[in-house]
This record gives sequence, C-alpha cells and structure tokens, in this order.
Amino acid sequence: MSLKEEVQKRRTFAIISHPDAGKTTLTEKCLLFGGAIQTAGAVKSNKIKKGAASDFMEIERQRGISVATSVMSFDYNNCKVNLLDTPGHKDFAEDTYRTLTAVDSVILVIDCVKGVEEQTERLMEVCRMRDTPVIIFINKMDREGRPPFDLLDELEQKLHISTRPLAWPIGMGSDFQGVYNLYEKSLYLFSANKTKISDDIVAIQDLNDPELDKTVGERAANQLREDVELVEGVYEPFNLEMYQSGLLAPVFFGSALNNFGVKELLDAFTRIAPHPHDRESVNRVVAPEENKFSGFIFKIHANLDPRHRDRIAFLRVCSGKFERNKFFHHVRLDKNFRFSNPYAFLAQDKEVIEEAFPGDVIGLYDTGNFKIGDTLTEGEDLIFKGIPSFSPEIFREVINTDPMKTKQLEKGVQQLTDEGVAQLFIQQPGNRKIIGTVGELQFDVIQYRLENEYGASCRFIPMNVYKACWLTSENQEILDAFCRIKAKDIAFDKDNNRVYMAETEWQLNMTIRNNPEIQFHFISEFT
Ligand code: GDP
Repeated sequence: MSLKEEVQKRRTFAIISHPDAGKTTLTEKCLLFGGAIQTAGAVKSNKIKKGAASDFMEIERQRGISVATSVMSFDYNNCKVNLLDTPGHKDFAEDTYRTLTAVDSVILVIDCVKGVEEQTERLMEVCRMRDTPVIIFINKMDREGRPPFDLLDELEQKLHISTRPLAWPIGMGSDFQGVYNLYEKSLYLFSANKTKISDDIVAIQDLNDPELDKTVGERAANQLREDVELVEGVYEPFNLEMYQSGLLAPVFFGSALNNFGVKELLDAFTRIAPHPHDRESVNRVVAPEENKFSGFIFKIHANLDPRHRDRIAFLRVCSGKFERNKFFHHVRLDKNFRFSNPYAFLAQDKEVIEEAFPGDVIGLYDTGNFKIGDTLTEGEDLIFKGIPSFSPEIFREVINTDPMKTKQLEKGVQQLTDEGVAQLFIQQPGNRKIIGTVGELQFDVIQYRLENEYGASCRFIPMNVYKACWLTSENQEILDAFCRIKAKDIAFDKDNNRVYMAETEWQLNMTIRNNPEIQFHFISEFT
C-alpha cells in the first residue's frame, strides 16, 4: 500500500466528555463494534475517585489503566481507527488538552439529561483553538432527557458551533427504541443489549414503509416521520467541508450502554472524519504524504515499577514512515536515536511494530531523553506547533524537607514536570520552585511519586497567585524593563520563557491596562 493510501485510511481521534456522560462506555462500544474486544466490561473506567481512603492506590491503579488504554486501535469499514484515551478527572484536564493536539478529530459525548456541562464547554474551547472537527454524540437516550430540538439549541448556544443532526432518536426514556440514520436514510433496530451486539437487526430503507409502524408502533413511527420532516426542513444539508473545518458539528443520538446509535456513529465517523492532514511546524507546513518521517511527543508515562526509571513516550507520526531500528533525529537534543522496541497498541495488548504511518501513535521506551513537545525527524530541524501549556490555576512552592535528598528532589521534580504531571516555574533569587497545576489532585500525585520513585520528600506552601501569563512584546526593551520592575512577580517556565504571576484578577487587569505594549497570554504558545 502506498504512503498516501496508508494516510487516507487512518482516523485518529479522541472521545471527550464531562465526567459521567458516558465516555468510557462509548469507548468500549466502539471497540466492541470494531471487533477489538468481544464483550463489554473489558475497558476499565479511568476515573479517580477522590476522597477514597486509598487515594494513592487509586492513582496507581489509574496509571496502570491509562498506560493500557492510552491508544486503542481497531479496523472498521476499511479504516484504521486510532482512539486516544483521555483522563476523565478534571484535575487531569491538561493531559486531555495535550492529547487533543495529537488527534485529527473528536467525538464529544453529551448526557441528554444534563445537556452541556462545565467541562464540555472547556473541552470545546480547546477544540476550537485548533479548529478540530467535532462530532457530537448525545447519550443516555434511554433516560428521560430534554427534547432533542432543545438539546440542539443548547449545543449551538453554549458551544458556539453550528449543528446538524445525522441521526434521530425514536422515542426517549422508556420509549426509546433506536435511531434513524438521517445520513444514510436507513433504520437499524437492535434489541437493547448491554454486553454484546445483537444480531436481530431490522433494516428499513423508506420511512413510509408500513414495516416501520409494525416495528416501532404507529405513534412512534408517525412522530419520527414528523421529526425527520422538520429536521430536513430546518437544517441545511450536511456540509462536509464545514465539519472538517471545525465549523459544523454533526449530531448523533443514542444510548452507548444499550448499543443504540453506536453503529450509526461509527459508520458516519469513518466516512466523514478527516484522515491525517497537514500540520504546522514553526518552520513550515508538513504534509503527511511527505516521504521523510516526522512526529512529536505529546505524552510521557512513567514506569509503574519505581526501580525502573524508564518511561514510555507517546509519539504521533505526522509524516512519512516510522521504522524500527532506524536512526531518527531528536531535534531539541540534536542527537540521533533509534528504537528497537517501539510499541503499537491494540485495545488491551501492545505489540512491537516494524513501522508506523501518519496518524499512528507509538510508544517509545525512554530513559529521560524526551519532553512533551519534542520532535523526531530524519534530520530536518522541525518543531511542531500546537502543544501549548495552559496557565495553571493552583500554585504552590515546593519545600524540600530532607536536605540529604536535594538531588533526588531536583531530579524528581524535573522529570515529573517533563512528563507533564504539572508545570514547573523557577523564581529568582533563590531558585524557588513553583508548581502550577489545574487540580488539587496533582499535588498528591507529585508528593506520592517523589517519595516512592525518587526517595525525596517535600511539602508545599500555597502561594497567592491567581494566574501565570506568558509575555511577549514587539519592544524588547519595554518587556525587559517590565520584568525588572516586576521582578518579584516574574518566574521562568520549563523553556526559560518569562511568565508574570498575578496575585489577583484585579491586579492582572490593572497590569494589562497599564502596559499596553506588552501582550499577556494564558497559553504558552502564541502565533
Ligand atoms: P465517563 O465518566 O464519561 O467515562 O462515563 P461512563 O462511561 O463511566 O458512564 C457513567 C455512567 O453512566 C455509568 O454508570 C454508565 O453505566 C452510565 N451510562 C453510560 N451510557 C449510558 C446510557 O446510554 N444509558 C444509561 N442509562 N446509562 C449510561
């Protein structure tokens, strides 16, 4: 198969949702329909239950699961589908944001009872930053949720995206019977089954077919005919280009738990979701069909065994062909590496692979050479764009509580922040280490892992910081002067960029107003 054909059959995506909307269930059903697993129940929820007596056991359990489910690949409709897992807990949102830099599209799951929730809006904002195409799956239609048209309105208003239903529910709650496929104008009715795909499918090609009345009942059949007429009257025909540009979200309804709507979703997904496309680097635009290999690291996983410091770095292939045992160029370190055991992932299993193509995600054993955002190439000094850090929300200073273990602490903090567990900022004088996170849970993780893996102990002092902003200015002198005057509020990020740490929202707004020649950024990458 040519490189172009390999590219065109790949669909690399993530399923995202507010916790509890049904991400894990839908993931599992995708694997079931994709033939990657035989019965449901194989995919463990990667949720962390905060407050449980065994928090740390929970964290370890979670880490085990998330290594196993980082990438799940399966074949469906002649496509090679790569499904990237994202953590469910909001404290790990940054992990999710980073994973979204490695996908070509997403499926966003909404609970039909709850509608758009807080985390849904934030995730959507991240998708919008990169114009990632979004398909929406409205789940739990077997519950008494909000009327479908109301849900569609809410999606448009709160998520600032046009919608177009491509499937329509037949009934809702206890009357929910399945979905009509507006895209293919066909109807498949399954009997509800929580663990297997049912065989007794009723296929109906024409809405006026009396078979429909017989199968779903006259009332439901008439309601469906009415709804479909309304949908076709109100909505423009589905526009593929608008979807692929991130401007229009096709909407599916269903119940992941009961297997309803999942086939319709996957069929449409493999048809319309984009294959890997051009990617911007700082240097130039890189096309997936280019012969030379390139890829970037978007996630790093520490080994679960504390005696082994090695880690797995996850690389997304962007162009050309990755090959086992071939030397590739690590741009940041200006060194060549080859990998004798690159892994691909297949549902729960991993296997050593000989080659990988654009859109694929592979796991590389790493002894500490990789940081998130690193690029590998065949020699060109490319640096891929779009792997930003987001301004954290909680800031604490790290205090060493065992002076004999200073080195271990330094190394541990460095490696954990390279892994992306949290962000590290250094403040002068005194080399103060400030850790910024999006959630409380990361501090528990850091403290626990520093002790267990590095033998270092520390405590955290809360800091009075509201936000950290990255700074740019056309006028370097003005920026330097600002940083001198505000020295006590300036720190350096992992790449030695200056950040301004504002104590309060009020102070931040004042500072922004008083310094019109300086731009304050809430993400670390600015174009
Ligand atoms: P996640 O947090 O988004 O991964 O959500 P889960 O997939 O773990 O689902 C959360 C809860 O909703 C679980 O108890 C599921 O069994 C349940 N659930 C998922 N899909 C459906 C559905 O279609 N109908 C109903 N009634 N419950 C569902």
